[in-house]
Parts: sequence; C-alpha cells; structure tokens
Amino acid sequence: MVRIISSYLQRTTLRCIQSMKGQSLPRRFQPIFRLEHTRTLHDEISKPTGSESTATESIDSEPAESAPPESESSESVPVDPSAQWETYNANFIDLRQHQATPLLGYQAGQEVTVHGFISKRRDVSSNLSFCELSNAFDYSSQKNIQIVSTWNEDGSRQFLAHQDLKTIPAYSPVIVTGTLQEPPNTTNKPGSPRRWDLKLRSIHCLNPFPKDIIVSKDAVWPPHQRHLQLRFDPLLRDRLKLRSILQTTISKFLQSKSFIQVETPLLFKSTPEGAREFLVPTRREGYAYALPQSPQQYKQILMASGITRYYQFAKCFRDEDHRADRQPEFTQLDIEMAFASGSDVMKLVSGLLDKIFFLLSGKWSPTEINGIQHPVYVGFDETVSKGPEKKKKKSKGEDQKPPEAGDGITRYPRVQYRDIQFMTYSQVMKHFGTDKPDMRIRPPHITSIRGTTHLNLPQEFIQKITSLEDSYVEMIKIRLDLPPHAAGEFIRKFMDSLPNNTTVKPSPESTPAVLVYDSSKPLNGLSALGHESARKLEEFTGLKESHYHGCKDGDIIIFHARKRETFHGSSTDLGRLRKALYDTAVQQGFIPKDNSFKVIWVTEFPLFTPNGDNADPGQGGTAGFSSTHHPFTAPLTPKDFFSAKYSPLQARADHYDLVINGVEVGGGSRRIHAAKHQEFILRDVLKMTDEGIAEFSHLLEALRAGCPPHAGFAFGFDRFLSVLCDVPSIKDVIAFPKTNKGEDLMVGSPAKITPEQRKTYHMFQESEPEPEPEPKLEPEPEPEPKSEPEQDQGFNA
Ligand code: ASP
Repeated sequence: MVRIISSYLQRTTLRCIQSMKGQSLPRRFQPIFRLEHTRTLHDEISKPTGSESTATESIDSEPAESAPPESESSESVPVDPSAQWETYNANFIDLRQHQATPLLGYQAGQEVTVHGFISKRRDVSSNLSFCELSNAFDYSSQKNIQIVSTWNEDGSRQFLAHQDLKTIPAYSPVIVTGTLQEPPNTTNKPGSPRRWDLKLRSIHCLNPFPKDIIVSKDAVWPPHQRHLQLRFDPLLRDRLKLRSILQTTISKFLQSKSFIQVETPLLFKSTPEGAREFLVPTRREGYAYALPQSPQQYKQILMASGITRYYQFAKCFRDEDHRADRQPEFTQLDIEMAFASGSDVMKLVSGLLDKIFFLLSGKWSPTEINGIQHPVYVGFDETVSKGPEKKKKKSKGEDQKPPEAGDGITRYPRVQYRDIQFMTYSQVMKHFGTDKPDMRIRPPHITSIRGTTHLNLPQEFIQKITSLEDSYVEMIKIRLDLPPHAAGEFIRKFMDSLPNNTTVKPSPESTPAVLVYDSSKPLNGLSALGHESARKLEEFTGLKESHYHGCKDGDIIIFHARKRETFHGSSTDLGRLRKALYDTAVQQGFIPKDNSFKVIWVTEFPLFTPNGDNADPGQGGTAGFSSTHHPFTAPLTPKDFFSAKYSPLQARADHYDLVINGVEVGGGSRRIHAAKHQEFILRDVLKMTDEGIAEFSHLLEALRAGCPPHAGFAFGFDRFLSVLCDVPSIKDVIAFPKTNKGEDLMVGSPAKITPEQRKTYHMFQESEPEPEPEPKLEPEPEPEPKSEPEQDQGFNA
C-alpha cells in the first residue's frame, strides 16, 4: 500500500517538474480544469480562410496544425506548447478590424459585416447551405438574417467560405461578411425588423461552441447554467428587453414631470421599519450595516432636503424566510413627491400605467405558449435606431394614437387611465374577501361575496357550519354552465383537495357549506336551507347585481361564516376560497382564461394590523399591533389620528395598494411629515422603546427641519413585470434570480465564510470562544471629523 502511494507521489512530482519545464501534461494533471476545456475548444477553431481581403493578419495567417484531441492515452504524444501558443495567437481576432455595419445602413446588394451567433446549418446540397444568424443588434427572439452559402467554382472565395461555414459548430459567435439580398417570398411586416438573406463571402468563428453542451429545443437549464437559459430562451430575453424598455419609458415619463433620479445608499443601518433585514458586518468590531428593505427613509429625507420629486429603480433587500415567490433582493420603482397627497400620487401612477400599457400594446405581441401569454417583441423603435437628429417630428397628440391596427399582429389589450378602478379596503374585503381582488373574477361565472341576512337562514343551518358565537354568514354563487352532477363532481373534488391547498387554509371554526342547484331534487337541492330560505334565495331580486337573481341547474352556492368584526389582515376564508375556485375552474377549462389586465387601487387600509396577522417582525413595540404599511404612514383624516390613540385598530391610513389581476404590484402612502406626530405614533401608539425610536432619529431630525407634506409609492418592479409577462414567478423576469433558499447556484452565493473572514469581521459561533485579539503593532486611530464636535444623536434629548 505504502509502495503504491509513494509511486503515485513520485509520478505526480515528476509531472509537476515536467510542467515547470514547459513540457505538456496530460489532461488530468493540468492545474485548471477550465483551461483544459478552453484548449480543446481552440483546437476546434475553424481554419481562417485567408479569403477576406480586409482581414487582419491574425485571421488570415495559416494557423498552427491543430493538436489531436487529448485523452488519457495521449500521454505518449506530447503536445508542443509553442505550437499551442501559435494557435491561440493566430486565432486572437482584433475586432476593431471587423466592425459590424450599422443596421440602418442595410440595402439590398450592399456588402455588410455582421456579428452574431449562428444556428444549426441546413445543408440543402453540396454547394448550398442555410444558417440563421441571431444578430447582436436584434436581441429579441426574432432572427432576421439568414446566411445563404453557395458556390459554383472550386477554390473560389465562396467555395472557401462555404468550407469554413461547415467547420463552425452551431451556436458559435461569428463575424460574417456577405451581400444583402431581399429574401424571396417574404413580406416584411410594417414596424417589425426586416428580414435579410446574406450571401456569404467570408465567415470567422470567434469562439466555437463546445460539443459537450447539448442544446435541445425548449431545454430548461439548471440554475447553475443560467447563462445557457438566457442564451437559448428567446422568451426570457424578450422579457428582459421589456424590462429594459419599460425602465427607459418610466424614466422619461417621470423626468417629463420634473422627477429626478437619486441613488440612495445600499449600506444603510438596521431600523425597526417592519421587515427582516440583512446585516453586513464590518471590520469594526460590533458594528454592521443593514441593507435597505426599501429606500423609504432616505426618500423622505430627500423631501425634507428640498428634492421634492424623486424616483429611483432601487434594489431592496428583505430576509423573507423563503416565502413563496419572493426574492431576497428585488427591484422597486420608488417614487416620492412633496406637497402631495395620496390621491396626487395615485393620479401620477395611473398616468404612468396608461403610458406603460400603451407601449406594451404597441410594441409587444402576446404569444400563447403552454397557456402563458408571452410578450414577444414586434415593434421596431426607429426613433431609437435613427438617433436624435433623424427623429421623426411628432405631431401633437400622436403619442396618444392607438397602435396601428390591421397589421396582422395580435396586440395586448390597453388599459387606459379611465379603466383603473378605486375601492376602499373595507369594500374589497366585504365584496371579495381579499385586499388584492382579482377583478377578472366576475359574474356570470363567480359572483362577489354577499351577506345572507335577507335569506333569514335557519339557526340549525348556521350552527352546522360554524361554532362561532357571533357569526356573519356570507355566500357566493358559481356558474360553470355544467349539469348538476358534473358541477357536483367539480366542487366535491375541489373541496377534497382543500387540505393540500396552501393558499386557502380554512380556519377551524367554520366549514363551508356547498349546495348544487338541481331541479330534479327536493327543494331543488337547497333543502339544507329549509323551505323559506330556499325560496328566498331562488326569488331574490333585491340586489343591483342581476347575477344573484334566480338559480339555474348546476349553480354552486357556497355559504361560509366569519366572525362579525372589523376587517383586518389580507383575506377572509371565503375570499381565499373564491380565488382558488376561480383559478381551478380556469385551469380545468370551465371558465375561459381572461387575458385582460384589470387594475384597481385599494385605498384606506387600516393603519395598524394585529401582530398575529403580520408575517413581518413589525416595529417591535408592545402595543400588540404593527403598522400595516410602515410606521411613517399618515392617518387618513384627523378623526383617524384621534382613533390612532383611542381605538388604534379602527384608524384608517392614507395607504393605497395597486393591484393587477389579483396581484399586489405596488403600494404607497402619504407620510407623517411632522416630527412630533411621527414620534407620537412610534412612542404612544406603537409603544416602541426609546432605543427603537432612537434608530429613527435621523428621520425625525429631517422631519423637524420644516419637511413639507409628502406622499409616495413603490412598484415591485419584478412582480409588476411578472404580471405583464403572465409568468408564474418573478424569477422569470430577473436575469440572475436566487433560488427559494436565497442561493445563486451559478456563482455559488451565499458562500461559506472562511476562518480568516470570521476573524476579520468578528463573527463567532456561539459555542466558539472568541480568539485572542492579535496584538496591534500600530494602533490605527478611527478617523473622526475634527472640525465637528460629537453631536447628540438623540432626537428627544
Ligand atoms: N417603501 C414602501 C415599500 O417598500 C413603499 C412606499 O410607501 O413608498 O413598500
């Protein structure tokens, strides 16, 4: 055994010496395994043609003989490293000599140079091949250049180029030169990128695509290969393009309204604003930064600083315990305006939405794949490509024109300012049982929630469905246009699946009662209600909503009891059930999928939420409740400010959320702008400790300095995009998302901290004794501002 090990060691040492002497090493002894790949790849590089007259020496010169592919058995065939070097050198292309022809200069018959990735080649005959080139200029899913390689004469320039094309692996980046031709039988759609055939003259491979990466259609790459997902998923790239274009559009819109983008620090400090934060340790023992959960405090300080209209695409960080479809870092479009109320902010954001939906319907086409409406870029923004000098002069009001109709392209439905609805929190909780109503859930399929007082339900019935003392019974009606037995089967299966449905979670004190209207049964299937209530239900015509009137065979009626109390929290049992029923019925094809966008502002939220209903840590006060939005939110009216003191859970806030298709895409509020009021809320209402309040001293100081009234809003930009793109997860609109465990498997973050880093950042495990501090040779004094005396940080000193 010892002999085996020692002979292995001897061989290894020998290899190291060989390597140091510059001799070649077999693959398994090469120190960096990536390099081994790289070498194989470079060996595969196609032989430059020499046919391109303008090519540089490095491209045109004969490359060194390719080395045979290495394997374990190649140990006996040493590769000459200097030959390898020559190969590398010969293939080192100076891109400055091969500049791409600007896209706008394209004309039939013109010779152009294009950069891009080639697709799989189609060989039609020995002297005719086709290949798509996805152009670097056009990073959407549209391939608009087709390479046509053909030759007549052996040894001609075209012949050589054709041979070159054949040696280049599919998906490799290339430089191609050729002549533009109008493709036969192609009608270029107005507004979309033009298609060209490029008659091949020369082609150079810039970096051959490796054979060991197998590309198959619609492949889903694992998270650690996100670069391949991005590369081979044009829909994902289109979503990122939408993201980028929207950011530009939003910036332009806000800047036209005098907003300025201000970047605020990412290294902030820990404050009890509401969410759990990430700490960033420092080398100064006992000190840490916190990453901002949002730029909330800085943007309010900006208002006090006289920067009265602010926006920013801000990175926010929340340590959210892997809640469904959350990312520990995400992007907000953050907005704040001074001398403004909540309604001013909602008007601004509604105008912005109008603009965004106009853009979406003008330049993107919804393309259904596997039931999802993917946005595919179809527009071609000539104003961007032409540059400012050639920009077409727009006549007044042109921006408002609907997108061109009749071009055969399916358009997104537009949402205009006037389409956006407003409802208060208590209205949406009453009618839809959620503060994020999906306004696509409508009659005739599913009604809103209604109280049942008018039905005079018998006590026995109520007692059967709830153990609550003071209960309030509500109902919804579902019409799937199914015969009674099929409707019964649908609802039975649905109810049976409830225990596994994580979003519904019914509370134990009430069970939903489900009836199916069936004229072949006693009392038409409503006998559980008793004669009188069943008749009242059938004959009911008292509501404006005619969908409640009358019953039809197969109608499903669900009754559910809740506690008779003021609403708090984000949903009721029946609200969750209603949403889950809708989703299931759509999924199973009983309700047609509604691809429109239904936008609603939900306003007048309760200022505070009891602690049990809030998943976030809150402000850490002893009041038993926390701020529903954040502790800087203003009460709606003076009466609500009064309520904040005497019946805090009744106080309403000037807090508004923006909801699209049942998804909260943003939220905001008017702020408390007077330091005294703010301090009162923190101390007397939320009952925070002096230490907790002191964490906000910077904000209180800023408010004290004559801060004007102000209000703001933040779009969860990723979430908003995921709704526009109809994708199930925000990961689908982020270039490099993290997994549900908060990991980026591509780069391997978070990474394990080394003992050295632990020491530097003074991080010790509880069980671990803190190591002795190293003796400092030269103590470094902490740089203090000499001119300013130390200030008392306490705002209440
Ligand atoms: N900062 C808030 C949030 O992150 C938004 C706002 O009130 O402007 O939800």
